[in-house]
Amino acid sequence: MLSNTQTRHDQHGRYPEAATALDFQRNLAAVRARIAAACHRVGRDPAAVRLLPVSKTKPEASLRLAHVAGCTMLGENKPQEAYRKWEAMQDLADLQWSVIGHLQTNKAKLVARFAAEFQALDSLRVAEALERRLQLEGRALDVFVQVNTSGEASKYGLAPEDVPAFLQALPAFTALRVRGLMTLALFSSEAERVRQCFVRLRDLRERLRQDAPAGIALHELSMGMSGDFEIAIEEGATVVRVGQAIFGARPMPDSHYWPGEPSTEESSP
Ligand SMILES: *Cc1c(COP(=O)(O)O)cnc(C)c1O
Repeated sequence: MLSNTQTRHDQHGRYPEAATALDFQRNLAAVRARIAAACHRVGRDPAAVRLLPVSKTKPEASLRLAHVAGCTMLGENKPQEAYRKWEAMQDLADLQWSVIGHLQTNKAKLVARFAAEFQALDSLRVAEALERRLQLEGRALDVFVQVNTSGEASKYGLAPEDVPAFLQALPAFTALRVRGLMTLALFSSEAERVRQCFVRLRDLRERLRQDAPAGIALHELSMGMSGDFEIAIEEGATVVRVGQAIFGARPMPDSHYWPGEPSTEESSP
């Protein structure tokens, strides 16, 4: 039954731009209905899946409409773009930010200043840089360890076999609150191969849970985006990161936003 769920990567580029708060309300309701249907197929409670709207590349006006429609946390993949938007929207006191893309150590100070969550932790150097900056700011940060489940050399994230040792080192960073694992699946219309990435992340989490160090929680699995979040939910996602299905298509293929990512046919406009 589950293997019937298809990816929707062919719909990338077809989501219309959300231009009013009502558009956002409709898109959010449509995504929530898809989340509920996926949960229903596997007997999960939709309340156990958090929807993280991803606003990368979209202008401030668009983010403000999303906020009017009820979004109180937004995901951005580039630290500088996220920082700029945070600075411009400080009047929205309840709006929180999740950085979901690769971080270089020299940008750690930006993230430490404003982000509530960082989903792409994949090196001790970045953990050290964040820890130092968070201590200076007197802040803490929820983090997800990014895992490369597709085996693609171009994707960021730790190899699954490197995750256990990495987790053992994390309790030293007291400002980092480890919540779980994050992955980007293979970007493909072959649903079974996409599903295998999600299964790999869940299996890894199950194996690691037993001997995770004290204080390291691995409750969360952040996996799934506009084109594949239903499959991710069927395989246990607790956070789905959804951009285009809420905000509308981005003008450029994802290779443009993920440096080092090879272009794929599916993501070309
Ligand atoms: C852009 C992005 C997403 C959302 O992708 P959509 O196709 O817009 O849903 C999810 N995760 C990461 C890491 C991203 O950069």
